[in-house]
Amino acid sequence: MMAPRRRKRTLMIIDDQPDETDTIVRRMAEVRSRIAQAEARYGRTKGSVGLVAVSKTQPPGRIRSAYSAGQPAFGENYVQEAIGKIVALADLPLEWHFIGRIQSNKTRLIAEHFDWVHSLTSDHHAWRISDQRPSHRPPLQVCIQINIDQDPSKDGLDPQAADALIDLCRQLPGLTLRGLMAITTPSIDPEAQRASFARLRRLRDTLASPSAPLDQLSMGMSADLEAAIAEGATLIRVGSAIFGPRAQQSRT
Ligand SMILES: *Cc1c(COP(=O)(O)O)cnc(C)c1O
Repeated sequence: MMAPRRRKRTLMIIDDQPDETDTIVRRMAEVRSRIAQAEARYGRTKGSVGLVAVSKTQPPGRIRSAYSAGQPAFGENYVQEAIGKIVALADLPLEWHFIGRIQSNKTRLIAEHFDWVHSLTSDHHAWRISDQRPSHRPPLQVCIQINIDQDPSKDGLDPQAADALIDLCRQLPGLTLRGLMAITTPSIDPEAQRASFARLRRLRDTLASPSAPLDQLSMGMSADLEAAIAEGATLIRVGSAIFGPRAQQSRT
């Protein structure tokens, strides 16, 4: 009897700290204002940049706080961790984006629980996720992850290999191909940031066709979202600027 009671208490402490909610609500406003300013500065249509709040390592209470500030879309990297939160937050109309490395033994859980996947890199995973997508759910929205800087420490398909996976995705009934995603090599130089994002945009322009319009570019994080918006990002993935520094280092 003791253990469940203790757990509940701990959760309440994490979930109901008014200070923490205020901080997240304030940071949400700051991030929205950065997005709006970048849209204006770089001639992007107002409201054309979508925000995915990256909630990896964050407890459900902080996700509720961000939701209370008007944020419906959340990104997660680790399947098991994510599903605990998806279940705990099932009372909210949230949109869940899988942005982490896909493992073959987790494709079913991804297909069953998520609305989007940004990190598709293989035919094998595309087949599996399409087959495993429950028929009562709409097709999973997918982006193909590209290693745009050809950085050996980053996941993603070689730009030359994207063509074949795009063709496959177009034919799989459980998937709707939406665009490309990249995790760029971090740089503090805005020009270098823009150069990487521009490469992804140009690759998209080359690969897009009437049957695969690739209308989404998932690129840009807390430190470089302005550069990404300048180069055409339609989805930015922002974690620490909303939730603060992560206690646990990202494993991707
Ligand atoms: C962690 C993560 C982010 C968010 O990074 P921040 O620097 O905290 O904004 C974005 N995309 C992916 C794929 C991530 O793993």
